[in-house]
Amino acid sequence: MGVPVVVFARCRECDRRVRLVLDATDGCVPVEYADGSVRMTPIKDAIPCLVWCVGTTVVYARRGGVFADGSRSQRVPHGPMRGKPIKSRFVDRPCDRRCTHATGDTCLCSCGGLNHGADAA
Ligand SMILES: [Zn+2]
Ligand SMILES: [Zn+2]
Ligand SMILES: [Zn+2]
Repeated sequence: MGVPVVVFARCRECDRRVRLVLDATDGCVPVEYADGSVRMTPIKDAIPCLVWCVGTTVVYARRGGVFADGSRSQRVPHGPMRGKPIKSRFVDRPCDRRCTHATGDTCLCSCGGLNHGADAA
């Protein structure tokens, strides 16, 4: 059983941000590579394989560098996004807007980071 990990990913070209909730095991998530194998990959390394920015929106790759429709990663204008898990520290206070609307990557809240940034634009 994995644990949910909240990740903020960012595009270096346009500064677009997305929030992901990944099911992680020991800090790793499964990534399907171009050769069809699935390997447990540290989240920081997995994000550029999983999330790509095409300028107007974000697409999620099924395989490293190759999308579900067979198109190649080179055609993605902004390329892979970068991200790492938020840092969360348990603080005994109710989870409120300060957490759910947060855009920073540090969470001090009783939710342990689960709701962090969930309602941010
Ligand atoms: Zn972008
Ligand atoms: Zn919270
Ligand atoms: Zn938070």
